[in-house]
Amino acid sequence: MSAVNLLELDRESLSDHCERLGEKRFRATQLFRWIHQKGAADFDAMSDLAVSLRSKLREGAEIAAMKVLTEQVASDGTIKWLFDVGGGNAVETVFIPEVDRGTLCVSSQAGCAVGCRFCSTGHQGFSRNLTTAEIVGQLWHAEFDLRRRLGLPPGQRAVTNVVMMGMGEPLQNYAALLPALRTMLDDHGYGLSRRRVTVSTSGVVPMIDRLRDDCAVALAVSLHAPNDALRDGLVPLNRKYPLAELLGACSRYLEKAPRDFITFEYCMLDGINDDPAQAAELLALVAASGPGGRALPCKFNLIPFNPFPESGLKRSAPARVGAFARVLQEGGLVTTIRRTRGEDIDAACGQLAGEVQDRTHVERRMARAPIRIHRSAGAAAHRRSETA
Ligand code: SAH
Ligand code: SF4
Repeated sequence: MSAVNLLELDRESLSDHCERLGEKRFRATQLFRWIHQKGAADFDAMSDLAVSLRSKLREGAEIAAMKVLTEQVASDGTIKWLFDVGGGNAVETVFIPEVDRGTLCVSSQAGCAVGCRFCSTGHQGFSRNLTTAEIVGQLWHAEFDLRRRLGLPPGQRAVTNVVMMGMGEPLQNYAALLPALRTMLDDHGYGLSRRRVTVSTSGVVPMIDRLRDDCAVALAVSLHAPNDALRDGLVPLNRKYPLAELLGACSRYLEKAPRDFITFEYCMLDGINDDPAQAAELLALVAASGPGGRALPCKFNLIPFNPFPESGLKRSAPARVGAFARVLQEGGLVTTIRRTRGEDIDAACGQLAGEVQDRTHVERRMARAPIRIHRSAGAAAHRRSETA
C-alpha cells in the first residue's frame, strides 16, 4: 500500500485518518499544526506526539510536496517555482512580495480546458487536475522555504495572501480545491482570513454557487468582454454560461462573500476589448445585474495583456487603458490597473506555461475559431438574443 500524503487532508479528514489508526481525533490537530504551522516533514521531529502514533505514521504516511524543477527570481523580487507533477507535466507557482504583504499565486490544474485566447495556459490545453496535496504543497513549500530564506521569526508568515490565479480553472477542479481552501483558512493551518484567499474563475456558474455555500472566500471573475458575442470568442466557457447567468451567480455570491463586492478582471487587448464604448457597455451591464435588479457591487481590475508568441494579440497602449479606466471610474466603479510583476521571468498573469502534455488538441481548435469583435452600445447589449 502506498503511503498517504498528509498534505492531501484537511483537518477533518486528518481526524478521520487518526481515528482509523486507532488514535484520538484531537491528535490530528497537533499533527496538522506540525505540518502547516511549522513546516515539519519528519515525524520524528514531532516531539509532542506519542511515540506509538509517530511510528504508525512513519509506516503508512508521508508529508511530501512536489519536486522543484527550477526556481527563478525576477529583478523586482518576484519568485517563480516550476514543480514537477509527473508524466511530463509541470506547474508554476509565483510569489509576489510587496511592502505590506506577500501574495502567492497558486495553480490548480496542469493546463486548462477552458482555452481562453489570450492565456498561455489556455493555449497549452489540458492534462490533468492537481490533487489537494499538489495545491496545498505549493503553499507549504513556498511558505517554509521563504521563512527560512528571509530568516523570519517563528510564527511570522511569509505568505499573507493566496490567489488561485496560476495555471488552471480552479472551479473545474472543485473536489480538490475545497479541502485545499479549508486548510489555508484553518486556524490550526495557515490561518488566512477569507478575505485574503481569492478564487479567480472564468465563470463556472454552478460551482460559484457551490463555493458560496461551502467556503465563501473572496471571488474574482475574469470578465474580459461586455457582451456575449465577444466573450464567446475570448472565453469559450461563455457559450455554456453566458453573461446574464454569470452575473446572476455573482449577485448570489455576494450574500455570503467576505467582501461586499466582486472583483472583475479584464485583460486589455489592443483593438479587441479596449474601446471606451465597450467600457460604457460594461457600465450598463453591471448597472442592473445586482440583487433586486440594482447595480452589482463590483470593482474592476484592468490587466494589461501580457503577450506570448502564439497568441497573435497585442497589449493595449497605456493611454488606451487609462481612457478605459476613466470611463469606468466616471461611471462610479472603483477601477485599478494591475501593475505587471515578474515579467522578466515570464511570471506575469497569463504567462504561466509550465509543461503540459496536452490531451485536448487545443491549438487546432483555436485556429478554427476566429475572434469576432462585437460592439454594441446600450444597457441591453449583453442580452444573448441581440448578439446571436
Ligand atoms: N482560470 C482562472 C484563474 C487563472 S488566470 C481565471 O481565468 O480566472 C488568472 C487571471 O489572469 C485571469 O483573469 C486571466 O484572465 C488573466 N490572464 C490570462 N492570460 C493573460 C495574459 N496573457 N495577460 C494578462 N492576463 C491574463
Ligand atoms: Fe484557463 Fe483562466 Fe487561462 Fe482561461 S484564463 S485558459 S480559464 S487559466
